Amino acid sequence: MMMPDANALPVREGMDYDVVIVGAGPAGLAAAIRLKQISPDASVLVVEKGSEAGAHILSGAVIDPIGLDRLLPDWRDDPERPLTTQVSADKFYMLGQSGSLPLPAMLMPPLMNNHGNFVGSLGNVVRWLAAKAEALGVEIYPGFAAAELLYNDQGAVIGVATGDMGVGKTGEVKNSFTRGMELRGRYTLLAEGARGSLSKQAIAKFALDAGREPQKYGIGLKEVWEIDPAKHKPGLVQHTFGWPLDNRTGGGSFLYHYGESLVSIGFVVHLNYENPTLSPFDEFQRFKHHPMIAELLDGGRRIAYGARAITEGGWQSVPKLAFPGGALVGCAAGFVNVPRIKGSHNAILSGMLCAEHLAPALAAERSHDELCAYEEAWRVSDIGKDLRKVRNAKPLWSKFGTLLGIPLGGLDMWTNTLGFSFFGTMGHGKPDHASLKKLSDVTPITYPRPDGKLSFDKPSSVFLSNTSHEEDQPVHLVLKNPEIPVAKNLPDFGEPARLYCPAGVYEVVYGDEANRKDPRFVINAQNCVHCKTCDIKDPAQNINWTTPEGAGGPNYPGM
Ligand SMILES: Cc1cc2nc3c(=O)[nH]c(=O)nc-3n(C[C@H](O)[C@H](O)[C@H](O)COP(=O)(O)OP(=O)(O)OC[C@H]3O[C@@H](n4cnc5c(N)ncnc54)[C@H](O)[C@@H]3O)c2cc1C
Ligand code: SF4
Repeated sequence: MMMPDANALPVREGMDYDVVIVGAGPAGLAAAIRLKQISPDASVLVVEKGSEAGAHILSGAVIDPIGLDRLLPDWRDDPERPLTTQVSADKFYMLGQSGSLPLPAMLMPPLMNNHGNFVGSLGNVVRWLAAKAEALGVEIYPGFAAAELLYNDQGAVIGVATGDMGVGKTGEVKNSFTRGMELRGRYTLLAEGARGSLSKQAIAKFALDAGREPQKYGIGLKEVWEIDPAKHKPGLVQHTFGWPLDNRTGGGSFLYHYGESLVSIGFVVHLNYENPTLSPFDEFQRFKHHPMIAELLDGGRRIAYGARAITEGGWQSVPKLAFPGGALVGCAAGFVNVPRIKGSHNAILSGMLCAEHLAPALAAERSHDELCAYEEAWRVSDIGKDLRKVRNAKPLWSKFGTLLGIPLGGLDMWTNTLGFSFFGTMGHGKPDHASLKKLSDVTPITYPRPDGKLSFDKPSSVFLSNTSHEEDQPVHLVLKNPEIPVAKNLPDFGEPARLYCPAGVYEVVYGDEANRKDPRFVINAQNCVHCKTCDIKDPAQNINWTTPEGAGGPNYPGM
């Protein structure tokens, strides 16, 4: 692909702020709000690639209110508050193909208790937080993707550049061309969520992950259903593990009742799965046919679909947070508590913590240096306390499989609650892209056809994510080596991108279909829901997720 020569393009216009924040998720907005609470005169800009704040947010979500309580202590009195359903019951099941075994609540470590938490849409929480931030004077630019980090001569980050608009598929400049902008800040916060594209660059450039365990991920697929009101139990929170995944594949389901007859149902597959013929999307579709789930959804209507990667490395994988000129906040650093499947509270707390260290730096007229005090603070903060206790849950599950790993993880969480662990701090071993076995070494998984009532295909699902991109633009899923998918990934793994992508972006088509000859790798980039799974799981690490034109991607209604 020929890209326009940057030197031949008009110079970018620039704007200067005290703080530029990339990403209007809970972390970025909490940082902006907290900073304006402490330093009302600070100029703060948040850039968001979604068409509006919340458009790209996908979460469960059962939300621990610790973050909101600290950020906006009066939030429960706000008539517009986005969370109104409190958890009323908390159930955990181990599933077999047709049966289920409830796990007694008394076996669960206290930290797994959802009492006092809220069920709702994190996307709607974010929309509400964006309004609060704007009321405090924060500028929010939705529809602008931060495409590039800007550096000064000393190598410190001095802001970001938004992507150019109006560049055609083959790199030609169209009539609609608009040059991106330089958004410069004394400090730049990366709040892009799991596997942020600029965060990935900053982590590599400043070796922020040196001495840390590799970051681990899962892919979470989610649907919202409107169900028969007679079956709706507001505040019921249900998790399962086991079927349809085998013992070597980590993951499980979540199912939350909230609002007016709404159910949020989702499935997470840990991305260290080994079988390249596994399709997380189809595991989710199959899961809904379990009698316990089918009975609940029967007669209901699916109203939304989406997918997003979730960080799973926890305590031992969090990179160094501060770098010259900025810092990572929220899931860009990976603050999810995996056994609780919760990260939004820590996203908010980390945004606040960072802001609390930014404010004195701004007051001291500092800029473009490292916020060392923020780096030092997180492990002894409530975020560190939350993550440390559960640090072995994921490695034990990966090492011993579901049947043994989950009880061992439970035991370790109990002993950690009492202040010790038999396992110390376990490592994660390989990164997720290195876990696939060769096609020749596995039994291929076959999936039943969707019935169109409980289970669906990818095109009709992507339709419900309201995903749209300008079609005449360079493909934002950049192959470092275009030969690898067909020359290497196809013979070795059956090209797993066809299966792990939850949006049907990747296909292998054959010039001679009958004889499976002349394979070609096709990228339907316009379907991408920005989950980032390809960037994580491609075994050759050959796919680089870059930002498409701003406002492209899903338009989630309330995920
Ligand atoms: C399936 C699933 C279920 C979950 N369930 C729960 C749950 O029940 N409870 C819970 O607490 N947590 C849950 N989590 C985790 C929770 O969603 C995350 O911890 C939380 O969203 C992290 O917040 P964040 O602000 O760091 O990132 P995000 O919420 O991902 O927000 C990042 C924002 O930055 C924007 N962005 C990214 N890159 C750029 C760029 N280059 N330019 C401009 N904008 C950019 C994105 O569009 C997005 O709006 C779940 C996650 C998943 C995937
Ligand atoms: S192309 Fe990559 S980021 Fe986009 S939906 Fe597919 S796996 Fe996710």
